[in-house]
Amino acid sequence: MDLDEFRSHAHQMVDWMTDYLAGIEQYPVRAQTHPGEVAGKLSASAPAAGEPVQRIMADFARDVLPGVTHWQHPSFFAYFPANSSPPSVLAEMLTATIGAQCMMWQTSPAATEMETRVLDWLRQMIGLEEGFTGVIQDSASGAILAALLTAREKATGFEANEAGLTGGPELVAYCSDQTHTATEKGAKIAGYGRRNVRKIATDDTFAIIPAELEKAIQADIAAGRKPACAVASLGATGVGAIDDLAAMGEICRRYGVFFHVDAAWAGSALILPEYRWMLEGQETIDSLVFNPHKWLLTNFDCAAHFVRDPEALIRTFAIDASYYAGPEAGQVIDYRDWGVPLGRRFRALKLWFVIRSYGIEGLQAFLRRHIALAEELEAKIAAERDFELVAPRVLSLLNFRFRPAGSASEAETDALNERLLNTLNASGEAYFTPNRVRDRYAIRISIGQTRTKARHVDAAWDLIRRTARAL
Ligand code: PLP
Repeated sequence: MDLDEFRSHAHQMVDWMTDYLAGIEQYPVRAQTHPGEVAGKLSASAPAAGEPVQRIMADFARDVLPGVTHWQHPSFFAYFPANSSPPSVLAEMLTATIGAQCMMWQTSPAATEMETRVLDWLRQMIGLEEGFTGVIQDSASGAILAALLTAREKATGFEANEAGLTGGPELVAYCSDQTHTATEKGAKIAGYGRRNVRKIATDDTFAIIPAELEKAIQADIAAGRKPACAVASLGATGVGAIDDLAAMGEICRRYGVFFHVDAAWAGSALILPEYRWMLEGQETIDSLVFNPHKWLLTNFDCAAHFVRDPEALIRTFAIDASYYAGPEAGQVIDYRDWGVPLGRRFRALKLWFVIRSYGIEGLQAFLRRHIALAEELEAKIAAERDFELVAPRVLSLLNFRFRPAGSASEAETDALNERLLNTLNASGEAYFTPNRVRDRYAIRISIGQTRTKARHVDAAWDLIRRTARAL
């Protein structure tokens, strides 16, 4: 494809992209395909000769698009949002076109320097104190792994990096029974072992019980193990649990435990002054991650990871090779040493576009609108006799179940709600996530898609009531 052809296809592509977004409500939210259906339509081997873009695009529309779940659909209420926005997409087009691999300052100084600057904008926007330095990771899981590895190195005097994890006391990581699985996964990878992850009990608000955390730490010390890392949740995945950072942090300090905060979803709400209380106790934390790629209108992937001691992070990851040496070493940031992957895309660009395009006030307005929609829905669910909320609303996250009068056993209610959820998602009209709250089946609604308006939430609630009563 020469550049004239590229220009013409690119113009057509932008038209397709705009039409897609304008007409997205015509698609079922969740793909309605069966396992293997898309694979069956894709050629079993690569073509020997090149094909025209028109044919590729036609096949995409016919064979691939039906197998896509439409995350940018305004009736997407599943998981957490991965909301994108037009300025973010424009920046992604630039990033893809420039195609820079930004592993080091030298391989694209603008990418490095913009990343440092824009992450500091974000730090200020969420009210995180000075002294934290930011880096973009591919995912919250990547940032949590980085925290667990840094904690491991600090706990072993940076010896695990040298000698491996042989001989010393077992390292232990702490989180709550609500914490996202990324902590357990990270602990497996980082050599703690799944058995050394303590899932501490939570209270009625689903927040970790600090006294239980301390008891667990003491028991591990008494058994000769080494408490190394604790992960607090600001908005855990299931019901949005928010841990008390001050109480956890005080315990972590006393026992020399590295303290990380997983604010993957709810961290975006810290740009709202009325939710800053979630960060109380921030003076005790060592690192925090939140994902602008969830709820800050920035395309996947973009996880903002803030660390108090970048030297410890760099010492954990840095590796020397003559081909990565540069005359600027020591005067500049080389982000290749701040996480697992060497190669990095120019991800700061989309944040720069999004924040400048909406301004802090524009972004705040988006989040407040989503939270207000969730508040309205919460009131409607609470007012309905045969539905009940199974956990308090957190920001724009709700969990409820259908419980008609004279319901039989809990097990039957679980089965009824599972049938309800599967019927709803199969309708293609809206998309929700199943959940278990204190072991009872619940339907989870997360409001946060860029284009979700009151009419979409109202339609979803009508759909839920109609479907439930017809079961
Ligand atoms: N932490 C929380 C609270 C989450 O909800 C999620 C995913 O939804 C993650 C971590 C993992 O996020 P990522 O996909 O960026 O690794």
